[in-house]
Amino acid sequence: MTELAVVVERTKSVCPVCLRSVDARIVRVGGEYFMRKQCAEHGKFSAVVWRTTTINSEQLTINNYVGSDDFTTDTIDNYMMAATCCALVEVTSRCNLCCPVCFAESGEIARAEPSVDELYGIFKRLCDDGNTFIQLSGGEPTVRDDLPEIIAAARRAGAETVQLNSNGLRLAREPDYAKTLHDAGLSFVFMQFDGTRGDIYERLRGRDLFADKLAAIGNCGAAKLGVTLVPTVVPDVNLDNVGEIVNFALSRSPDVRGVHFQPVSYFGRYPSPPRDRDRVTLPEILRAVELQTNGRVRITDFAPSSCDHPRCGFHGDFVVLPRGQLLKITPKYDPDACCAPDAHIKNRKFVSRRWTRGDEEKTADNADFSTLDNFAKRAASHGFTITAMAFQDAYTLDIARLRRCSLHVADASGRVKPFCAQYLTRV
Ligand SMILES: [Zn+2]
Repeated sequence: MTELAVVVERTKSVCPVCLRSVDARIVRVGGEYFMRKQCAEHGKFSAVVWRTTTINSEQLTINNYVGSDDFTTDTIDNYMMAATCCALVEVTSRCNLCCPVCFAESGEIARAEPSVDELYGIFKRLCDDGNTFIQLSGGEPTVRDDLPEIIAAARRAGAETVQLNSNGLRLAREPDYAKTLHDAGLSFVFMQFDGTRGDIYERLRGRDLFADKLAAIGNCGAAKLGVTLVPTVVPDVNLDNVGEIVNFALSRSPDVRGVHFQPVSYFGRYPSPPRDRDRVTLPEILRAVELQTNGRVRITDFAPSSCDHPRCGFHGDFVVLPRGQLLKITPKYDPDACCAPDAHIKNRKFVSRRWTRGDEEKTADNADFSTLDNFAKRAASHGFTITAMAFQDAYTLDIARLRRCSLHVADASGRVKPFCAQYLTRV
C-alpha cells in the first residue's frame, strides 16, 4: 500500500541536472517530508528533507518550520536577500587533504590566489557595507603562509570578528601557530571534527586524523583561541557518534566553545548521486544527540534558527558549570526576531561572542553561581553552544530558505551571495 502524499508547502527549486528554476512542493508521506519537482527536460526528482518519525518534541514539528514567505520570484538569480550575518571569503582553493566529500572541490591544483592587498580590498568593501563578521575559508586557509597577514588585513579593514575554517592539521603540527594567528587578530576557529574514532576519519577524510584533532585543540587552548568542532554528519558513518562528540567537546570546555553539526549535503565533490538513505536531517541529529548523551542534552533545549530559515538550522546555548553540569540558556524561538532593522547586527554580536573565549580567570570553580554576577561571568567564560546548519544542494534547494540565508560568500569585488547559491553544482 502506498501512503498518501500531502502537499504542505509550494516553493521554487532548481533541476539538479540543468539548474533551471522549477516549481517544487514539500510533501509529507507518513513522518517524512520530501522535496518533489519536475523538469520538462530531465524528469522528476524527489529528496527527503525532514524526518520526524521518531520525534515527539513540540518544538521540532515541521509546523514551526514551514516558512510563511509569500514567494513570487521566478528565477534563482532574482531572489531578495536577507542581511548578511557572516561573510565568507575564500582565500585559497588549495588543501592539504583530499577528502572523498568536499563542498569546495579543493585539492592540489590551485586557482589563482588573491594577494593580501586584493583581500584587503574585499574586506574593506565588506566592512564598509557593514559586514564586519568575516569567515576565512577555502580550500584550507592554513596552506597560505601569509595567513597571519591576511587576518591582520581583515582587522585593519574594520572586521570585528575574524573566523577561520580549518581542518586543524597545521594547528596540530606547529605548536606556536595558534598563538601567531591569535596575535594577528583571529577571533576563533571552526575546526572540521567528524568524530571521536579513527575509522570515521578514514572513511570521510581518507586517513585517521583524530590524534591531529586532539593536538590542534590542545595548541589552540594554550593560545586561548576558542575552537568550535564542526562534524559533517553522514548516515552509517558517524550519526552513531554525535553524542560522544558532544560529551567530548563539553569535557574540553572552555577551550572548546561548541559543536556545529553539518548534515552531509551533495555539492562539490561526492562519490555518487545521493539516495534518501544517504541523507540525515536536523531532527534526526537532535534525536541522536539526546539519546546518545542519555538526556544530558535534550531536544527541548534547542530552538530553530531564527536569523536564517528555521529549516536551515538549530541552536542550543548552555553554560558549563564545574563538574560538567549544564544549564540551558537558549533564547526562546522568535520567528519575528529578524524583522527588526538592526536584528542581524544584534545576532552577529551574539554569535560572535558565544564562540570567542572569555576571561575564565574571573570564575573560580568554587564560586557561588547562584549569584547573578558570578553566573554572568561563568556564562561569558564557559558558554557552550550546539548548533547546526543544513546546507542545500541541487536536489534540496528551496528558494524560500535561500532567501532567508544570512551566511553569504563574497566575490572578488566584495559583493555577496548566499552560500548555497554560490556552491550549487550540477549532478
Ligand atoms: Zn533540467
